[in-house]
Amino acid sequence: MFEHLREEFPILSQQVHQKPLIYFDNAASTQKPISVINSVTDYYETINSNVHRGVHHLSQLATDAYEQARLQVQHFIRAKHPHEVIFTRGTTESINLIACSFARELLKPGDEIILSMMEHHSNIVPWQLACDQSKAVIKVVPINEKGELIINEYRKLFSEKTKIVAITQTSNALGTINPIKEITDIAHANNVPVLIDGAQGIKSCGIDVQAIDCDFYCFSGHKLYAPMGIGVLYGKETWLDKLPPYQGGGDMIKQVSFEKTTFNDLPFKFEAGTPNVSGAIGLQHALLFIEKYGHQHFMAYEKELLDYAVSQMQSLENIRFIGTASHKSAVISFLLEPHHPTDVGTLIDFMGVAVRTGHHCTQPLMDYLGIPGTIRASFAPYNTKDEVDHFVHALHTANKMLA
Ligand code: PMP
Repeated sequence: MFEHLREEFPILSQQVHQKPLIYFDNAASTQKPISVINSVTDYYETINSNVHRGVHHLSQLATDAYEQARLQVQHFIRAKHPHEVIFTRGTTESINLIACSFARELLKPGDEIILSMMEHHSNIVPWQLACDQSKAVIKVVPINEKGELIINEYRKLFSEKTKIVAITQTSNALGTINPIKEITDIAHANNVPVLIDGAQGIKSCGIDVQAIDCDFYCFSGHKLYAPMGIGVLYGKETWLDKLPPYQGGGDMIKQVSFEKTTFNDLPFKFEAGTPNVSGAIGLQHALLFIEKYGHQHFMAYEKELLDYAVSQMQSLENIRFIGTASHKSAVISFLLEPHHPTDVGTLIDFMGVAVRTGHHCTQPLMDYLGIPGTIRASFAPYNTKDEVDHFVHALHTANKMLA
């Protein structure tokens, strides 16, 4: 446990149903440290103004702060250029941006898109919409019984019609950490670009987009201690230059007439309208918060919590773990058979424990596994082994109540 880290999260000191809150729903959204909360308040108290527009003092300060946030993201994900970082609302919007741009110009009838069995709906539905528009088709990488991608089957899916691979770095439902370097290398050997959904992976693994050499990388701030409503699309400059804009509006143009519009340079070409400036600043402070403690230390501690929790949960006779990949993030999906996940989740909520239950926006995966959903506990560095003990105790109690 990191000394004093927990104190930085005001929300964690509250009680829920007269019990101390145990927040194990971090894969859905993390809590925010006070430095992030303050950075948003400070922005509105001191420099709130629209960016890239006014010559006045506040507008310049807001613009500087917004662009400073972009530099922080560039540094965090190791992008080559700041203009390869596009601010979006989150992972969902980032993926929609690429899927729409591909559908508009690059996808032709019969073209193929490779996804995997463990994708979140956010990395399925935008591609289905792109397929509706372009008459392209989706191919799916299967998984093995541990919940790992079958890489040999993935290799076989490529054809001369494959136009893009879009795969998650870390599964939100299973915790599986995918070999994204290998996935990218295989795609590139077939001259196919790769989009990595980093919604979960950014926290559980971190990313070096140049080392991985992925073409696109998407993530959401709110799963990384930052506010909701801010996210990132990283794209290689060559790709972003080539793709048409996603949305039209202010800021993304150079010159507009009723006859013809020319588009702005990167990154503004993809940032139509007033952006979420306070969100970007909040994200910058979230990244500073991570750097203060060290991302590696956070990841090591989360792994320790994961191993501890898995070992303690073995004491539950009716436990069935869903997703047992050798390389896993701090996410435990499970069932207490024969009980329904919602019943278990509701009961332990009354004991102060917040977990997620349901299909986790991965219905195709749940259908494949033949289950309605799971109970999912997911950890962050402010969680403790003590909380894990309470959680396991709560599960034993729920078992007794449902017996
Ligand atoms: N992909 C994965 C793997 C996720 O876990 C999530 C969020 N649950 C998303 C995409 C979508 O993220 P957001 O809702 O923040 O856009």
